Amino acid sequence: MPLPLSEDDKFHEECGVFGVWRHKDAAALTALGLHALQHRGQEASGIVTLDDAGSFHTHKGLGLVGDIFGDAKVMASLPGSAAIGHNRYATTGETALRNVQPLYADFEFGGFAVGHNGNLTNAGVLKRALVRRGCLFQSSTDSEVFVHLIAISLYSTVLDRLIDALKQVQGAYSLVALHNGGLIGARDPLGVRPLVLGRLSDGWVLASETCALDIVSAEFVRDIEPGEIVVIDDSGIRSVKPFSNTQNRFCIFEYIYFARPDSVMEGTPVYDTRKRIGAELARESAVGADVVVPVPDSGVPAAMGYAVESGIPFELGIIRNHYVGRTFIEPTDQIRHLGVKLKHSANRAVLEGKRVILVDDSIVRGTTSKKIVEMVRQAGAAEVHMRISSPPTTHSCFYGIDTPERSALLAAKHDVEEMAKLIGADSLAFISLDGLYRALGKTGRDSRNPAFCDACFTGDYAIPLTDWTDNAERRESLLKASA
Ligand code: AMP
Repeated sequence: MPLPLSEDDKFHEECGVFGVWRHKDAAALTALGLHALQHRGQEASGIVTLDDAGSFHTHKGLGLVGDIFGDAKVMASLPGSAAIGHNRYATTGETALRNVQPLYADFEFGGFAVGHNGNLTNAGVLKRALVRRGCLFQSSTDSEVFVHLIAISLYSTVLDRLIDALKQVQGAYSLVALHNGGLIGARDPLGVRPLVLGRLSDGWVLASETCALDIVSAEFVRDIEPGEIVVIDDSGIRSVKPFSNTQNRFCIFEYIYFARPDSVMEGTPVYDTRKRIGAELARESAVGADVVVPVPDSGVPAAMGYAVESGIPFELGIIRNHYVGRTFIEPTDQIRHLGVKLKHSANRAVLEGKRVILVDDSIVRGTTSKKIVEMVRQAGAAEVHMRISSPPTTHSCFYGIDTPERSALLAAKHDVEEMAKLIGADSLAFISLDGLYRALGKTGRDSRNPAFCDACFTGDYAIPLTDWTDNAERRESLLKASA
């Protein structure tokens, strides 16, 4: 992501990674995997392959996977039985080809390519130090610090150099890397972002989510563990755990919104979890109504759970046009308003004269909810009750989910009652933090050792925000609620 030497408000990484070891159609499989992971990044994609003679081949482009890799000539330019790929999601900053991953570099030990999902929180500090000692950065992504740290490491093996680099970075990362000797996967010591391992007859697959294993008919083997590095080569797979302190702090927002519903994360199916959150929400904040209507697509499973638990019929009262991107992609507020209209339409036949429970997964700026409530009222709804399948988003994410800075988060500035007024709903309720943990199979949130990273709801940042805390003024502006 854009990472000038001095100031950058915030990185905006939300990415998907994929890797294959030993399959004759490695590039095609990677393109399919990236297609299944398209929801994790729609801005750009890239694939790096390694052929049997030891040469690397790269193709990157801006846009959707199908547009970049749908061309037979492009695919023919990516020979080899090993590959890694990356989907990038950036909503602000430079959309330049030089920032598209995987990043590739020629080192003393040969070629090396890396794809990163997550955000580093000390990349600014590291980059300044690296530039001072002569490293020439080619991109403005935080991920490039991995490349330079590996290049300057005094260790001799690729694995030791990678470990050396990982010990210097702070933040969230799930990595896939490719070098002449093999495919590598790595997860940060808190396991914030996902990474799974799959088996493909004689080969192996690494992917951000299991939905990308399914599309290539790979068999799910297991999640890569927090702080684990897996090294895959022709002799098999090896696991290395170089960190003494690891914990489970998997991103809870992956369950709520980000992951595809058919994925299974850390042993828990995302779809079931979303339905359970909806049921929990119905128990916590019941209201008399005629229909339960999801804000599609992200609100659908939670609305189903809500409807079953409450006994109120589930109806598709809002229809989504699938041919526009996520509203967040629109860069300005004005366009974002327009974006919502482009994306959602009211189904008057379902809404007219009805008391409606609207279910969505989150309120970030509040723009979507406000427009949707207004649209549902215009379609004749008698009452509109908004139910949200996450707790109020009161803090920004610094670990890989794109959220605006705190001052733009509706819940950072207003209580629930005020928010209800602002979005124009008759009532508004969010699932409680404990309710969310219950839906995830816990008894509630253990504040001494929460099983997940829930900083966006609690402000409990488990990984230091070094790039921000280093600079008091930036820290102030990033963490305060009112701009
Ligand atoms: P807002 O209009 O800012 O309140 O946005 C809320 C909507 O954006 C919800 O319907 C979510 O499904 C969706 N959403 C939440 N988080 C994100 C994100 N990080 N990126 C894109 N969309 C999001």
